[in-house]
Amino acid sequence: MYKVYLKPGKEESLKRFHPWVFSGAIARFDGEPEEGDVVEILTAKKEFIAKGHFQIGSIAVRVLSFNENEAIDEAFWKNKLQIAYNMRRAIGVAGNPTNNTYRLVHGEGDNLPGLVIDIYDRTAVMQAHSAGMHMDRMQIAQALSEVMGDAIDNIYYKSETTLPYKADLGAENGFTKGGSSNNIATEYGLKFHIDWLKGQKTGFFVDQRENRSLLEKYAHGRSVLNMFCYTGGFSVYAMRGNAKLVHSVDSSAKAIDLTNKNIELNFPDDKRHEAYAEDAFKYLDRMGDQYDLIILDPPAFAKHRDALRNALQGYRKLNVKAFEKIKPGGILFTFSCSQAVSKENFRTAVFTAAAMAGRSVRILHQLTQPADHPVSIYHPEGEYLKGLVLYVE
Ligand code: SAH
Repeated sequence: MYKVYLKPGKEESLKRFHPWVFSGAIARFDGEPEEGDVVEILTAKKEFIAKGHFQIGSIAVRVLSFNENEAIDEAFWKNKLQIAYNMRRAIGVAGNPTNNTYRLVHGEGDNLPGLVIDIYDRTAVMQAHSAGMHMDRMQIAQALSEVMGDAIDNIYYKSETTLPYKADLGAENGFTKGGSSNNIATEYGLKFHIDWLKGQKTGFFVDQRENRSLLEKYAHGRSVLNMFCYTGGFSVYAMRGNAKLVHSVDSSAKAIDLTNKNIELNFPDDKRHEAYAEDAFKYLDRMGDQYDLIILDPPAFAKHRDALRNALQGYRKLNVKAFEKIKPGGILFTFSCSQAVSKENFRTAVFTAAAMAGRSVRILHQLTQPADHPVSIYHPEGEYLKGLVLYVE
């Protein structure tokens, strides 16, 4: 196995089980590892500290194990996936008769940096975010089959757009097992078409499940605007929560089609819902003041740290528009899924927006990602989803 030697003192974060080695921490390589190879990491004093997937880039190694004697082989993947599956069953998202949509593996949160696996009924959608996970995909798929047994029939691998582009790994999307076209999954008793072939991420935003469920409780009798609706998740819950009307908006016509299909699937011919393919800022400018429940769940405004300032301005501008128009006594669900934006930064942006609109605002809930998207205590950066539920006087 290739070895990577750290500069003196650069092992400190690894001693605290942080799962990344930055390229700047590396003094030298023993040999020439290829992207995706498993390498051993040694301190300047040549002591073993961890092993993981090597990749060219700012994060040079993603740690898989801190144990020198643990081989990264079929048994390793099987063990990690079994731990992840047991955890999902223990918290009740897997093996739940009303819910078969959940995240089985959440990267660093499951000690498997670079790997995401979402379950949609009898199909697992597997996504590699690192060269190493791509190289090991067949072993992982085999382990997944064994761990899930007859709970799944299909495994779809979807990594064309998530792998480092420069590595030129030639990843192709496709089934590694089965090949079902039945793509309807259930989330808390509601049905959704999951477009794992062409949709964003693995086809669905599984991470908003608990927040959608909370929204349902507030929807009764309200006029709801679901801004950035994508597949209409929040809209479908608002409908079940007996909203008076639900308007879904997304700039993508494909998203609007998906939303309409999902509403039809659960509430056929229900006239309370309408969807609009339009830019969020334009819609917020032209709309009236009829809404008393607004959801703002935009795409990540800051994909990198350098984009932070612009992103915060974006969140502020967006939220000001909602605060200006929401009815007195209205409720705003507002989110940021940018990892680079901290909880405090997001809160400041939203508070500034409230002040600019001159509204009196109280925090009802502070939201985050659900338990099947766990955060490793050693990798606090893994907490990426932030939300506030606000009562606007
Ligand atoms: N709330 C959704 C996920 C939102 S993803 C859920 O629960 O599933 C973000 C969505 O914002 C995408 O569907 C994207 O098409 C849309 N979007 C991006 N920029 C936009 C803009 N300027 N105006 C409206 N929608 C936009």
